[in-house]
Amino acid sequence: MKGAVVDVDGTVLRGETAIEGALEGIDALRDAGVRVVFFSNNPTMTSDALARRLKRAGVSLGDSTAFTSASLTARYIAENCASPAHVTGEEAVVEALENVGVDITDAPQEARTSVVSVDRRLRYDDIRDGYVAATNAEHYVCTDPDTVVPASDGYIPGSGAVEAAVSRAAGRQPVVVGKPSEVAAETVLDALGTPADETVFVGDRLDTDIALGRSVGAKTAVALTGVTTGDDLHVSENDGHRPDHVLDTFADVRDLL
Ligand SMILES: [Mg+2]
Repeated sequence: MKGAVVDVDGTVLRGETAIEGALEGIDALRDAGVRVVFFSNNPTMTSDALARRLKRAGVSLGDSTAFTSASLTARYIAENCASPAHVTGEEAVVEALENVGVDITDAPQEARTSVVSVDRRLRYDDIRDGYVAATNAEHYVCTDPDTVVPASDGYIPGSGAVEAAVSRAAGRQPVVVGKPSEVAAETVLDALGTPADETVFVGDRLDTDIALGRSVGAKTAVALTGVTTGDDLHVSENDGHRPDHVLDTFADVRDLL
């Protein structure tokens, strides 16, 4: 194995703390010369912010990269879409695009790429601007498909909910980056520089992390430290995204080396 794409929440971090076994697992991969990227579907954080969060919890990044769906979307747009881009979303998406040299416009009618993402301060005018941009731009991209995301007191609307409003008005569907899209898997593999059949995708969710790896034919491993339990693995509705390996904690990744 040459590369590993590692989910963050529920796999190596719980809140701001490293999960048991996480640090040992990372060390084992590094010692074996495996290249590692961390990948979180959260589009409200830049990769720098995610890297700082990992470091605060004691996860040493070494030469690893930390991607959020914001930074991965920016990378996708820089390589595949035209500038300038208009953003319906939070500052992290704008920052991520600027970091890879994509010009940003506040004038939606001038956008050649329209980007939509969650915006926790969304107003009607933002939906209007998103609609104008999505209607006119050559490229229309959404950071991630999450319609709801976990919050401290249940669930809150995510990028998919904002995208639904803009798409419904514009009568158009975006390219969706973020897990579990094949676009995300290909972009993250390109960044990692390892072939799919020598890369393992590790995460705590079958419908995102495992589906992501399977979309490009990579090896997959579910860590039972987050949302997936041992019982879930026997539920037939999960047949479409059955992992190759089951890890009690991330430390068990050493058994795959
Ligand atoms: Mg997770």
